[in-house]
Amino acid sequence: ATPTSIMVGTGRAAELGVLFRKGQALQTLRNAGVIALDKTGTLTRGRPELTDLQVVAGFDENEVLALVASVEQHSEHPIAEAIVAAATERTLSLFEPHNVKAYPGLGVSATLDGRKIEVGADRYMKQLGHELDALAETAEQLALEGKSPLYAAIDGKLAAIIAVADPIKEGTPAAIEALHELGLKVAMITGDNRHTASAIARRLWIDEVEAEVMPDGKVAALKRLREQHGPVAFVGDGINDAPALAEADVGLAIGTGTDIAIEAAEVVLMSGDLRAVPNALAISHATLRNIR
Ligand code: ADP
Ligand code: MG
Repeated sequence: ATPTSIMVGTGRAAELGVLFRKGQALQTLRNAGVIALDKTGTLTRGRPELTDLQVVAGFDENEVLALVASVEQHSEHPIAEAIVAAATERTLSLFEPHNVKAYPGLGVSATLDGRKIEVGADRYMKQLGHELDALAETAEQLALEGKSPLYAAIDGKLAAIIAVADPIKEGTPAAIEALHELGLKVAMITGDNRHTASAIARRLWIDEVEAEVMPDGKVAALKRLREQHGPVAFVGDGINDAPALAEADVGLAIGTGTDIAIEAAEVVLMSGDLRAVPNALAISHATLRNIR
């Protein structure tokens, strides 16, 4: 492409809220075979809400929620905010826990009133050696509904299952449809439960799912997608997404996301609306139509 056509292309993109920090990204985007998107905060709003809470016989629902929320007050995960908000809504009093430990991609633990509280994904509970059979069926049912199941254990005993759901952003279905029309494969990368991820992917007609990916595993997931589908574009918003944004052939960060993600990306989307992605692609196609 000529410098002039690149300038025109990046200028048009900017009018649509897409900032190309390097003109070259217009060309790499043009060659992408697959667009991989982070789930939480990218495909979804990133503001989950608590939808279900089921305690194991012998535990009190409000007591468990108060204990769990007391621990989650100290986590910055969107799931933690959902749990604290639910406890606040029920006007439960929260307490100050000790020894709070956050395990990225897994969950959190702390002690409260001499009791050990652990909250997180099923793989976290399994690592801790907790038996999940009593709630396995409920978990699968919740996941089939696109909700994310979490477990709470008190003093090493399974106490409750909690589900959160994160609404899909308004522009997401149309964005995916447009990407398909442009001939691209669409993939989702998430740390979330694989059944939950599949349910959401089915709803959105997403072609490939990389689920239960640990925070440091997104780069490997991108490499797998590249092997199958060619050059890969990645769209993300979080701190955890920075390595994947750098690894991708083109990284697109959501401008309302974290600064670390924005710095790692060649392209910045000014709003959270994913329809900007097919718009940017269409411009890259138009700009480079007459070349090669
Ligand atoms: P994602 O951004 O896709 O949700 P993460 O790596 O942040 O991925 O988290 C993966 C999973 O780890 C979550 O879906 C959840 O099950 C569990 N998890 C992480 N942090 C917490 C937390 N503070 N409380 C409960 N569960 C958590
Ligand atoms: Mg995210």
